[in-house]
Amino acid sequence: MSNSLKILADNRDALLLAEIGALLHDMGKCDEELLRESASDFSGPKLYKYKTAHSHLVASSPPLILLGESVSLRDLIEKSRPRIVRDTRQQWLMRMLGHSHSVAHTEKADFYYLKKQTMADTRRSTPFGYESDHLTGLRSQLYTLPFNDLSDRSAFKFNLDGIFSKACGDTRRPLNDVTLWNWSNTVAAFYKAALAFALLIGKINPVDVHWRLLSVRLNGIQFSETVSRISDLLAHQKLIIDGLRRVRALLEEMYPLGTEVYSDENGSVFIVPDIDTLLDLKDRRGEPLLNLIIEEFGAGTIGSIHSLQMNGEVIPKVVLSPTSWPQQLNPLPILPISEHMVEIHSNQTDSRNVDVWWQNYSEDVCTVCQLRPQGWSPSDNKTHRENRARGKKCPPKLACKACKSLERRICSICEQRRESRSEQWWAKELDTTIWLDETADTNGRLALVVGKYGLESWFDGSVLFYPKGHGEAGEVQSPDNMIESGTPVRLFRVWETTHKFWQEITTHLKSCIDEVNIRLHIHGDFLPDSGNRSSLAVSHTYDLKLANTNFSITCVAEGEYLTVDNLHRAAFLLGASKAEYGDETKAANYILSRLHDSRYDVEEPTGYGSPNKLLGRLHIRNVTTESTPYLPAISILTEPRTFMALVH
Ligand SMILES: [Zn+2]
Ligand SMILES: [Zn+2]
Repeated sequence: MSNSLKILADNRDALLLAEIGALLHDMGKCDEELLRESASDFSGPKLYKYKTAHSHLVASSPPLILLGESVSLRDLIEKSRPRIVRDTRQQWLMRMLGHSHSVAHTEKADFYYLKKQTMADTRRSTPFGYESDHLTGLRSQLYTLPFNDLSDRSAFKFNLDGIFSKACGDTRRPLNDVTLWNWSNTVAAFYKAALAFALLIGKINPVDVHWRLLSVRLNGIQFSETVSRISDLLAHQKLIIDGLRRVRALLEEMYPLGTEVYSDENGSVFIVPDIDTLLDLKDRRGEPLLNLIIEEFGAGTIGSIHSLQMNGEVIPKVVLSPTSWPQQLNPLPILPISEHMVEIHSNQTDSRNVDVWWQNYSEDVCTVCQLRPQGWSPSDNKTHRENRARGKKCPPKLACKACKSLERRICSICEQRRESRSEQWWAKELDTTIWLDETADTNGRLALVVGKYGLESWFDGSVLFYPKGHGEAGEVQSPDNMIESGTPVRLFRVWETTHKFWQEITTHLKSCIDEVNIRLHIHGDFLPDSGNRSSLAVSHTYDLKLANTNFSITCVAEGEYLTVDNLHRAAFLLGASKAEYGDETKAANYILSRLHDSRYDVEEPTGYGSPNKLLGRLHIRNVTTESTPYLPAISILTEPRTFMALVH
């Protein structure tokens, strides 16, 4: 199978169109009419044909031409049902979708008691039993989708998620806990991997098609916690998110063979074709898929800046499930996602890169990445190296950046990542904070709030879900009458629910923490200490020495600074009365009056446990207020299992 990834690339458009077809194969469920006819109090003829009611919406789509067959998207949606899977007179593309539907299936009507809902009150549930309001407006939302352009897969999927997440796959309790989005996305994941299998290996009887899971995992917490500032931590998280996003694009779009079905701070899990040599498949250059995944992850960066890429700082662990799934069809065994959630104790680093970083360097290790030497820079700064070889620093007039990084005890890459994070905040995110001093309360205290869901028992099938039985019934009297349900679509629903829960908690922080409305915008001239360089660096934070207190400012442009401190606390430390420091405007005015037309020492924080370094004095010419409201809280993690935020 040399050059085999090329087959997937050559059929990319068709594979992605097939995926859209699978995502839409039950689009007719996004309609109140179906809820009405499925209700317990509905009587009368059932006239709503959910398979055909809206399929005209895709009539202008080009046909799906793949694997020697041609099927219109409309036929794919209308006719791909489980009952045609064994009918060899039907096109394989439709039979395979029918079988993908079966293996993703939520219903086990033979095992559960099911209860219909009423016409006036049909609700969606979470897997944890919380129900929504009555479902309305489904059909009108379905018609807002851009059906005339299905080629922008990402945009279409994003819109579809928003709309299908409001509808149910099945309205009967307890099956109303699976949304139409969970359902459609899972079916599409199985279908896409099955089509990739057929392209790579050949078409086989749909019921004989199997799948595997592929995971790309790291220890995300470990990578994020080896930092000295919050901006470093947020930068590291952006690197992971971007690296995983790139891996996802590689497997879902560049070589469309898989779909992400689980992700958290430690990586992602994909449904992929059942090929034991999958990771050896090669691209045009002869590079195996395993290397491509590692390369893509390593290309993860901040703000698309090439030089800030992860580049071997973490090599993710790539694992292909050793066995095929499912081993049997009835009942389906649980999808083994939990096997891929095992914690990675220690991240692996590319030792070849580490060797390169340390050539000609004998400095201490960077306090942020813990990998490169302090002051290391990708450009070959000969003068700096010669000065350092003699144990000296470069003269101030050279304004050597490497020496500056050395003073900050970090490498230039970590320094630029920190700057880039700060620049982004100044350019686009003033309505948030990335600064600890702004998050702390008047007493300088802050709290790290951590929440955790133990999802493992939900994922390994040990949690009991549903009342055991058959047909309609009432209350279940004991746990003995419960049964587990680990169907793929339900696992997806579980982690998606906890993920959305933490995201909502982050949004709700706004309702329990007061926003801050004032920062001070300082204009001033920096007067360097003798032997120092001439200006303060943009995107760096400094301490202004006011009496005996340190007041945090960040340089946002040449000669311009923004306060990144709690103004109540600063006023309190400067001796303001309670009436003054307790009121935001009064506290700001109190400090403003102290700052105007004065000179204060400026120090640079050099890191945890080291004394600050005096740089010179700031002659403050003018101070105005910057009034973008922001929430004094920093969200660190909102992953399916873990939530972390800094608040006061
Ligand atoms: Zn570093
Ligand atoms: Zn230097």
